[in-house]
Amino acid sequence: MSNIVAIVGRPNVGKSTLFNRMIQRREAIVDATSGVTRDRHYGKSDWNGKEFSLIDTGGYVVGSDDIFEQEIDKQVELAIDEADAILFMVDVEAGVTGMDEDVAKLLRKVNKPVLLVVNKVDNSMREAQAVEFYSLGLGEYYTISGMNGSGTGELLDALIEAL
Ligand code: GDP
Ligand code: MG
Repeated sequence: MSNIVAIVGRPNVGKSTLFNRMIQRREAIVDATSGVTRDRHYGKSDWNGKEFSLIDTGGYVVGSDDIFEQEIDKQVELAIDEADAILFMVDVEAGVTGMDEDVAKLLRKVNKPVLLVVNKVDNSMREAQAVEFYSLGLGEYYTISGMNGSGTGELLDALIEAL
């Protein structure tokens, strides 16, 4: 399989919402090992005639903050190994969090395309708030609303260009 795209980010940023918007059919639910991660979702999508497989990293977590952090790291490591390109999603409502910074630190070392996606930019007011994500050291970002779809066309243009 080629053209694998993984969506990573801390819980609640909107990964699954974007995933569901992008896939045509659900391919498989793969059960993970520990009781911590419930599943990873795989789907297929295409844009401008280019097909790609999409991974929605779950990262459902129970337990302490430590396990929480470890789990996100594990998901990111898996994505880094498996994917040809990574969508790193953050949430403009929440702003930059410590967990975002930890994930960014891992992703800055990756020698694969990483697209920083600022989600929940549902209106133009929120566009201005997104500038704070430059502090993650990943360069340019794409503002989208996974909920209403705005910005997703530009993101997909950039994604297939990067693949
Ligand atoms: P995940 O944990 O990263 O997979 O996040 P989900 O896709 O489950 O979404 C978490 C919450 O954020 C849900 O209540 C979504 O409805 C909400 N959400 C997702 N995308 C958007 C968005 O673009 N704008 C707003 N306002 N809410 C969103
Ligand atoms: Mg999810």
